[in-house]
Amino acid sequence: MSERYFVEQPIAGPHATLLASEAHHLAHVMRGKPGQQVTIFDGRGGEYTAEIARVGRAEIELSVLSHQAIERELPIRVAIGVSLPKGDRQRWLVEKLVELGVSEFVPLVAARGVAQPTGGTLERLRRAVIEAAKQCGRNRLMQVAEPHSFDDFVRSATPESLRLLAHPRSAAALRDFLRNTSVVPEAGLACAVGPEGGFTDDEIARAIAAGWTALDLGARILRVETAAAVFATAAGLLARG
Ligand code: SAH
Repeated sequence: MSERYFVEQPIAGPHATLLASEAHHLAHVMRGKPGQQVTIFDGRGGEYTAEIARVGRAEIELSVLSHQAIERELPIRVAIGVSLPKGDRQRWLVEKLVELGVSEFVPLVAARGVAQPTGGTLERLRRAVIEAAKQCGRNRLMQVAEPHSFDDFVRSATPESLRLLAHPRSAAALRDFLRNTSVVPEAGLACAVGPEGGFTDDEIARAIAAGWTALDLGARILRVETAAAVFATAAGLLARG
């Protein structure tokens, strides 16, 4: 896939502007010159072919030539709520969920959570979403929701969706669930992954009472971000039927 650039402002009309790191990358790393063509997207669907019109000090002006209605989304919505791991692993987590097609990422505040999501964290994660979307070709940005308490997330997922919770040693295994599930509701999927300390028994009981299914992901204990990537992969397989 050719170099893709993200435009903050919704693209409408014949002009678009690259700002900040996007302009820097094209001007100084890729040595873009007027007349050169690039692919741009604004995260709201489709991508555009554009031509560099002017390379400014801090911005690059582009002429928009054409729109291609290309989407690389899963056929249904997949929301994943995760109790955030620490540090660099947050970025890895978000990058993989974007690549795997997740529509919405919800930072969960669970009883045993270690990293409390702050405004700065969310800003960094949203930037990571853009970087990953540029690289993997998604034209719609995975949404990073405001943090939800685990109970809010459990309650807010529509009962018509498939609601799955990762919990070690659950009686039901993801492997069997994948084998036995052929129809996935149009309402999509909601998945939840707990903190390093795991969900508490009370949290699991409340989710199950609300209609969620707890699934075991295998004999080994996975890091939060690995469990989320496994769930996202499974969701992608289920979504495609
Ligand atoms: N200390 C906890 C494990 C926490 S792992 C315990 O031993 O129970 C962090 C989170 O990743 C868990 O809350 C769960 O959501 C998910 N997870 C990790 N490994 C898993 C597995 N083998 N099966 C199901 N969920 C798993």
